[in-house]
Order: sequence, then C-alpha cells, then structure tokens
Amino acid sequence: MSTRVAVVTGAARGIGAATARRLADDGLAVAVVDLDETATKSTVEAIGLAGGRAIAVGADVSDRTAVDAMVTRVADELGPPTVLVNNAGVIRDNLLFRMSDDDWDTVMAVHLRGAFLCARAVQKHMVDQKWGRIVSLSSTSALGNRGQANYATAKAGLQGLTKTLAIELGPFGVTANAVAPGFIVTEMTAATAARVGVDFAEFQAKRAAETPVRRVGNPDDIAHTVSFLASEGAGFVTGQVIYVAGGPRG
Ligand code: NAP
Repeated sequence: MSTRVAVVTGAARGIGAATARRLADDGLAVAVVDLDETATKSTVEAIGLAGGRAIAVGADVSDRTAVDAMVTRVADELGPPTVLVNNAGVIRDNLLFRMSDDDWDTVMAVHLRGAFLCARAVQKHMVDQKWGRIVSLSSTSALGNRGQANYATAKAGLQGLTKTLAIELGPFGVTANAVAPGFIVTEMTAATAARVGVDFAEFQAKRAAETPVRRVGNPDDIAHTVSFLASEGAGFVTGQVIYVAGGPRG
C-alpha cells in the first residue's frame, strides 16, 4: 500500500500542529496548512526531524480558490489526499447583544465554509481511491456556551456536516467523524483567559477542578483521537462525535 496523504488545516500551532506531527509519526505524508505558509515552518521541521514527510502550504480555508489550489498542490507534490482534518478555527466571542455581523460571519466562514470547501475539494481523491477519512474539530461548545453564539452554532453545524458526509461518502469507503474537545491548552484558550482578564494558569486550574479527570487537556489528547479515526482500523466508525473532554460533558 502506498503512503497515505493527510491534509491538516490550521496546523501551524496548537491542536493542528500536534495532529500533523502525530499523523506523520503514524507514517502518513502530511500537508501542514495554515493561513500563513511561513508560520507552518516549525511544524514541518519537527516532522522532518522525526523522520517524517511534510510540506508547508498557505491557504485560507474560507477561500474556494485557495482551497482548490491547496488540494491540487498537495495531490501533485505528495499524492492524492485521503485524510482531511478540518481543524482551522477562530473565535470571536461576545454576548449576543454585543456580537457584530462580522463576528458571526468570520466564525461561520472559517469553521463551516472552510470545512465544506475542504471536504468538497478532497472528496474526489477519496472517491477515486475508494478510501478516505474526514475528521472535523467540533467542541463541547456545540452544546451551548455563554458568549459563543457564533462558535457554538458553527461547532454544532460541523456535527451535522459530519453525519451527512458519513451517509453520502460511506459507499465509497470514506468515513467522516467529529472530535469535540473540552478545554485544551493552546493559544486559543490563552486568548479567552486574556479576554476575561484571568491569569491563564488560574484559568486552567479552575477548569481542571471542574473536570472529572481533574486536569485540562493538551493538544496530544486530541491528536491521539484523530489518529485513531484516521487509521485503517477505524473503517466501521463513521458519523460519530467523540467528546474528548475529560468527562461526559463539556
Ligand atoms: P489555535 O491555537 O488558535 O490554532 C488555530 C490555527 O488555525 C491557527 O494557526 C490559525 O492561524 C489557523 N487559522 C485560523 N483561520 C484560518 C483560516 N481561515 N485558514 C487556515 N488556517 C486558519 O487553535 P486550537 O486551540 O489549536 O484549536 C484548533 C481547533 O480545535 C479549532 O477548530 C478550535 O475551534 C477547536 N477546539 C479547540 C479547543 C481548545 O480548548 N483549544 C476546544 C474545542 C475545539 P492564525 O494564527 O494565522 O490565525
């Protein structure tokens, strides 16, 4: 069997970077995609140093032309992409009465339009290969979260997209699943702590105390779950949302 090729979006840092490294450790060739190609350099270098194969690709996942060009480039340089991790994300938190049109549109564009455009662009390669794995990053916020009307809606929407892709693409050997993290230590949660004016270490300690396993998550917790869903052996798991949150709820 030839080497599988994965596209991981938003992989310059955080969960995406850990996932790209993990999939490379699993033996996949990885396209490390982020808005700014130069920002992906450290992830690509870490994969290379560990003996893996990766390329850096700059693309805004909400831009159809950029996404199509990204997938064409990945297919030309690494081979047909048959694993897609829709990870790129942004937050624009605010209570409803303060949330601007732009806060809403930006979050929808990156999470929902981005996942749609990437899935549509890679599906032809997956269908040709009669094998594929699509994993999208949802969130415990999909269950509702104060200050996140936009983000909660987008993350719930990704669950609907996932279940529909599972139904449409299942006959072609393609699975689609979502991973819904709880609190993971990344720049995204650091920005949330800063916005509410709480020291990040204190913020984490409070979340850990509220979490059944009594700790916060780290990017490798999520990468490990994505690795399973992208694996050869996970072919009968599809249309599922796996909460990776240190407990049964967010
Ligand atoms: P992060 O550290 O903020 O990283 C997100 C990455 O996505 C950044 O490198 C960012 O690039 C990139 N990105 C943003 N917009 C993009 C676009 N339009 N096209 C391509 N790349 C783009 O976030 P994270 O915490 O690792 O989160 C990763 C995913 O997990 C997100 O979907 C997030 O919603 C989800 N998630 C996170 C948590 C958590 O607790 N951290 C919990 C649940 C779900 P720039 O730096 O250039 O903006």
